[in-house]
Amino acid sequence: MPIYAYRCTECSFEKDHLQKISDPVLATCPSCGQDGYEKQVTAAGFQLKGSGWYATDFKNGQPPAKTESPTCQACPGANACAAS
Ligand SMILES: [Zn+2]
Repeated sequence: MPIYAYRCTECSFEKDHLQKISDPVLATCPSCGQDGYEKQVTAAGFQLKGSGWYATDFKNGQPPAKTESPTCQACPGANACAAS
């Protein structure tokens, strides 16, 4: 059963909830009672398989950059630029 991290946009209350996939998404904050409770994408129970390279390099739906990636047009230090 996955754990979902929730955060309230109204009072910043944060809590992890153990929920079934079929359980409805929570919307009401248990702290302030307002409807600002939102499930966070970066849930604590969401674990990536493997090295998790696509968590950072694959987020835009593109494969990870290859070593022969084009040189940055803005600066000569392409590697340093890409790391930023
Ligand atoms: Zn709240």
